[in-house]
Amino acid sequence: MSSSLNNYLFDAFSNASDDIYIYVTDLHEDLTRWSGGAVEFFGLENEYMYDVKTRWIDYIHPDDRDMYIEDISGVFNGTKPQHNCEYRVRNRSGAYSWVECRGSMVYEDGQPVFFAGLMTRIDNQSKYDGLTHLLTAYELPKAPIIPSASILLVGIDNFRMINSRHGILYGNRVLKYLADLLSSEFSDETVYRFSGDEFVVYSTHLSIDELKYRFEKIYLTCNIAENYEGIESFSISAGLVEIPSADTSMMDIVGFAELSLADAKEHSTQHLSVYSSEIKKKHIRRTKISEELISSIRNNYEGFHLEYQPLMGSYGSRVVGAETLLRWEPENPEIGECSPEEFIPILEKNEGIVDVGYFVMKESIRQLSEWQEKFPYLHISFNVSYLQLQDPLFVPSILKTCKLYNVDPHNIIMELTESILATDIELVRESFRILRSQGIRIALDDFGTGNTSFWTVHSVDIDILKLDQAYVRTLCENNKIDLAIVESISIMCNRLGYDLIAEGVETDEIRNVLQQFEITAYQGFLFSRPLTPDKFEAFLDENGSNYAFR
Ligand code: C2E
Ligand code: CA
Ligand code: CA
Repeated sequence: MSSSLNNYLFDAFSNASDDIYIYVTDLHEDLTRWSGGAVEFFGLENEYMYDVKTRWIDYIHPDDRDMYIEDISGVFNGTKPQHNCEYRVRNRSGAYSWVECRGSMVYEDGQPVFFAGLMTRIDNQSKYDGLTHLLTAYELPKAPIIPSASILLVGIDNFRMINSRHGILYGNRVLKYLADLLSSEFSDETVYRFSGDEFVVYSTHLSIDELKYRFEKIYLTCNIAENYEGIESFSISAGLVEIPSADTSMMDIVGFAELSLADAKEHSTQHLSVYSSEIKKKHIRRTKISEELISSIRNNYEGFHLEYQPLMGSYGSRVVGAETLLRWEPENPEIGECSPEEFIPILEKNEGIVDVGYFVMKESIRQLSEWQEKFPYLHISFNVSYLQLQDPLFVPSILKTCKLYNVDPHNIIMELTESILATDIELVRESFRILRSQGIRIALDDFGTGNTSFWTVHSVDIDILKLDQAYVRTLCENNKIDLAIVESISIMCNRLGYDLIAEGVETDEIRNVLQQFEITAYQGFLFSRPLTPDKFEAFLDENGSNYAFR
C-alpha cells in the first residue's frame, strides 16, 4: 500500500466535517485514498480505491457523467488548472446527493504525482442525513397526509448540555445511537432526522397505543446507564399527533407535534404528550401572554411592579432583608390574572427576561437605597435568570447601579436556581467571581428540587443556599425523612460556610422545628406575604432590625 497516502495531515482533515470528504490519488500507483466520511456516506468498500477514473464514474448520476469526464480530463491533460464541478453521486442508500468536487494536481519536478481534492455535499436539501443516514426534514413534506396516520416527534432532553459536557463527537454518537434505536423499533415506518436533536417517525398503520408502547421501550433503553459503547444514560421526550384531516398541512402537523413535545418536556412525570385541545389552548394563551409582555416592556414596563417579602433573621424574628418578587398586570382583560410562575417562563422563552431583569435589578437597588437610610443593614435579594448572565452588560451594570444609588454591594443578594449549573459553567464561575469580589452575595434558589448534588454546587462559589419550600412546608416532628434531609443540608452548609435560608415557612410549628438547625434566615407566609413597597415599609417600621444579615 502506498505509504505516501498514509499521512497525519490526511487523518487530521478527514474528520473536519460531516459533509466534506477528501481524496488523494497517487498517480504513480493509480491508487486513491478516501476519508472515512466518504467511505461511510457513499458505501465504498474501504478507504482505498484503485483505478478511480473508471470506478468513480459508476457512482456518478448517468446524466452528469459527460460533464464530469470533460472537466476531469481537462485537468489530466493539462488544459485546466483545477477540477471544479457539481454533480450527483450515489450514496450508500442508493439515492443521489449533490456534491461540489474540487481537485488539483500536485507536481514534483514538473511531473504530476498526486491529484488531491475536496468533495463538499451541497445538498442541504439532501435526502439523507450524513450522520444518521436517516431521511432529512426536507423529505417530510413529501409524506402523504392521510387522516389516521401519525407523527411521533422525539427529542433528546438537554442535548445542549450533553454536547457542552462531553463534546460534539460524543453528542454525535448519542444522536446516532438514538437514530439506530428508532430505525430498528420502527422498521416499517419512516424515520427522519428532523433537526439537531429531534427525530420524526411517520406511521400510517400503528395505533396511538402501539406508538406509545414502542416509544416507551426506547425511552427505557436510553435510560439504562452505560448502555452502549460507553454512552451514558440520557433522557428523551416525545410529542404525538394523529393527523386530523387530509387538508392539514405537514407544517401545521409538525407544529402540533412540537407543542406536544414541549408539553412533555415541561412535565417531569410524563415523557410523551399526545396533542390535544388542552395543549392547543395552552399555546394560544401563551402566545397572547408573550405578545402582551413584549408590549408591556416596550411601554416602559407598564404593568410590571415589584413586591417585597421579608427575610427574617434567626434571632428574635426581625427583618434582615427582603426578596424582590415581580408582578405583572396585563392590560388585555382576556388574559386575566397571570402569576410569575406562568409569565416568567414565557419571558425566558421570548428573551424578554433580559430587559425585565434590568428593571427588577435597578428598581430593587433603588428601593433599597431609600430604605437604607433608616435600616443600613437591610439586604435586598432579587431573582436572576440564567439568560441574564449571558448578557455581558448585566454584571457590570449591577455594580454601576449600586454606585449610582450609593448602595453597598454587600447588601445585595442575587438568587439563581440550580438550572444555572447546567449552562455554561465557565461563564457562571466568572460572573460569580466578579460579583463576589465586589461583595455581592450569590444564593442558590430552590435547592433540592433539581438533581444537583453538593458536589455540583461546590463546583461554583456561592454564599447562600435557599432550601426549597417543598422540604419546608410539610416539615413537622413526625416527618422523619424531610427532617433528616434538612438536617444534613444544614450541617453541610455549616461546614462549607454557606448561609441557609428556609423558604415557605407557613406555621409556628414549622418554625419551631427549624429552630433546631442552623438557619440564617426564614421566609414565608407565617411572617408575611410579599408586600407592596408601602406595606413593606410599614412592616419594616414595626419589625425592622439594626443588625446584620448574619
Ligand atoms: P421563588 O424565587 O422561589 O420565590 C418564592 C415564591 O414563594 C414566591 O412566589 C412567594 O410568594 C412564594 N412564597 C413565599 N413564602 C411562601 C409560603 O410560606 N408558602 C407558599 N406556599 N409560598 C410562599 P411568586 O412570587 O409567585 O414567585 C414565583 C417564582 O417566580 C419565584 O419563585 C421565582 O422563581 C420567579 N420570580 C419571581 N420574581 C422574579 C424575578 O424578578 N425574576 C425572575 N427571574 N424570576 C422571578
Ligand atoms: Ca427566589
Ligand atoms: Ca425559591
